This record gives sequence, structure tokens and C-alpha cells, in this order.
Amino acid sequence: QCITHCPTGALRERDDVRKVMDAVNDPDKIVVVQIAPAVRSAWGEGLGLPEKMATEKRMAAAVRALGMDYVFDTNFSADLTIMEEANEFLERMTHREKYQWPMYTSCCPGWVRFLKSQYPDMTEQLSTAKSPQQMFGAVAKTYFAEKVLDTDPSRIFCVSIMPCTAKKAECALPNINDAGADKDVDVVLTTREFDRMLRSELICPANLEEEEFDSPLGTGSGAAVIFGATGGVMEAALRTAYYALKKENPKPDAFKMVRGLDEIKEVTAEIAGIPIRAAVVHGLGNTRKLIERVIAGEAEYDFVEVMACPGGCAGGGGQPITEGREMAGERGSKLYTLDKKNPLRFSHENPSVRALYAQYLEKPLSHRAHELLHTDHSGWDMPSKA
Ligand code: SF4
Repeated sequence: QCITHCPTGALRERDDVRKVMDAVNDPDKIVVVQIAPAVRSAWGEGLGLPEKMATEKRMAAAVRALGMDYVFDTNFSADLTIMEEANEFLERMTHREKYQWPMYTSCCPGWVRFLKSQYPDMTEQLSTAKSPQQMFGAVAKTYFAEKVLDTDPSRIFCVSIMPCTAKKAECALPNINDAGADKDVDVVLTTREFDRMLRSELICPANLEEEEFDSPLGTGSGAAVIFGATGGVMEAALRTAYYALKKENPKPDAFKMVRGLDEIKEVTAEIAGIPIRAAVVHGLGNTRKLIERVIAGEAEYDFVEVMACPGGCAGGGGQPITEGREMAGERGSKLYTLDKKNPLRFSHENPSVRALYAQYLEKPLSHRAHELLHTDHSGWDMPSKA
């Protein structure tokens, strides 16, 4: 089913609401929903909901009102991504000569496709960590199904609410789906689809009381919520890399120099005597400029965060559209406010993530963690141009 926005019908947006409602109405399915960090900064816009009503907890209540069985938070798996990606980065730094540099983040499927099509020789420079969306699905269909629900993973129907249209393609990639179930994530809805679903089911979030996310995959840190803004993944990773190297936490805002909407941000963070040359870029035009500078030897980095959308996921292609107004900056500010208010500011302090390692994965980069949480970006080919 498609929703047409373009007057000529040339451009279409895929609408997957029906697939989700079919699963909700199927008594054999357990519908497990995750909501991405950036969605909470924008979901109220498409509903005309005043900012103070459009809270995370009211968003959780609205998802539950749609009939979903469990409402979880991608912030949980963003913290998990940081545990894997920060440790992968430090592991690569330890065996520096074995790798091409810099290491690039891998959580944005728009960027991964860009790199694979434009600079295929650099595919190995991507972190092997799956995106938070895919990590969540892998954990929901293994740990959550086995250890928490004691049910067959095939009963879990995993729905993501994302700010992103590219996530629909990401969840269908062949190498991503190795959780023992058919797919880590079954269906992706954009923020716009979520808003449309609420309207079509006549749910008025303003009339709902706030509700908590479900446990245990509903707990996320402030470091996770800023994944939705450009620079957020890098900042979260540096907070945890600092802890890994110094065995103590930095000040939570110690790496705030990577925030903001500058096209390319460069910082050198000195941690335990190790200089980490980091860069953050958003928008694929800016990304091409950065890569060309690296290729020409004009810039050298250790770790680079790339987000395809201007402003990062806050400005994602699945977010509500306000004609004539670019909302990414405003939405990003909301995410930094949520980070500040969160009593947990570090991914490595997320108690649910700690429990997952203690009960199931053992430690970051363990054999089981590799099986479930990492991927081989060379395992799929770009579609031909024909
Ligand atoms: Fe999707 Fe854009 Fe976020 Fe990349 S930056 S994950 S394409 S919304």
C-alpha cells in the first residue's frame, strides 16, 4: 500500500500500517515495539500536540493504546550499540596496523548505502556494530523471547517506529537477520506513519495519561537519546571510551564540542594520554567533502560519525514535514534537554544493558555478542544500476 504525496504520482512513500495492524489482530503474535530516540522530538508535530503534552511517556501510552503488547525504547539498544562500538573502536586502536583508518559509524543505513555505492573500497572501515534498530530486534527475538517470556521467537513480531525511511530497507538486508528468527525487525513505521495510525484509530494522545515504557528493554541513558542529533553517537561513544580507558566517568558534558549544526566538526579528545581524532559530519554532500579530504591526505581521523540527513535523525526523512521550516535544530535541542534530565548519562551504566551482558552476552565483543549484534557489511551487494 502506498501513500502518494507527489501530484504526478511519481514519488511514493511505502505505508506499512496494515502489516502492523494485522499482527496486532493476530492472537499468535506478540507485538513488540521499539521507538527511536528522534521520534520523541517530533511525533507531536504531526498531531498538533502542544510540546508539553508530547512527552516520551505519553508517546509510550499512545503506542500501547494502538494495541501493541510491549512498548520498548530504542534508547536501550542505542546504549548497547555504544558498548559494542566503543569497545570495537578501542580494540581497533590497540591493533592499529591491522586496519584502514578512520573507523566510521554504521548506524545510519543511508550513509552505509552511500559508502558502499560511492566508495566500496572503504566498506571494511565501517564499524561492524549493527544499528540500534537491528540490535534491538536481535535481542527481542533471543534474550527477551527466551529468558523473559519463555516463548518461541517466531511469535515475536518486532515493529520499529523510526524517523527514517531508509530503515525500512535496512531491516530487509540479508546479512542483518541472523538472530535465529527470519528477521531481526519485521516492520518499520516512520514517525509520519505512526501519527497517521493514531489519527486513523481515533486515538487522541492529549487525552491519555503518561505511561512508563515496559521493562527490561525500555531503559535508556541520556547518552542514548542524543543518538537522534548529529554528534550524539560520537559524544556517547567518547563518554564510554573515556570510562573504558580511565576506569572513571568523565563529566557528562565533557565532549559537548561535537554538538551543533556545523557541516563538519573536528575534535581531538585526549583520553588517558591517547589522542582520539574525531570528526562528525551530517548530510551526504558534506560527507563526500570529508572523505575526499581524507583520500587527498588533507585530513586524518581515527573515528568519524556520519549521518545522511542534515541535522541527523532529528531531521530524518520519516519525520513530520513543516512546510518552509527546517526543524532538525529545534528537535535536537529537545534531545539534549532529555539527556540532561536523565539520571543515567552513560551507556555503560544502563542497568538493563548490564543485566543483558551478565545473563546472556557475557561481555562486549564476546562470541555471542558478535553473533547477534554485529554484521558483515560485505555480505550484501548494492542493487545494480540497471
Ligand atoms: Fe535514517 Fe537519516 Fe537517521 Fe540516517 S540520519 S538513520 S537516513 S533518519
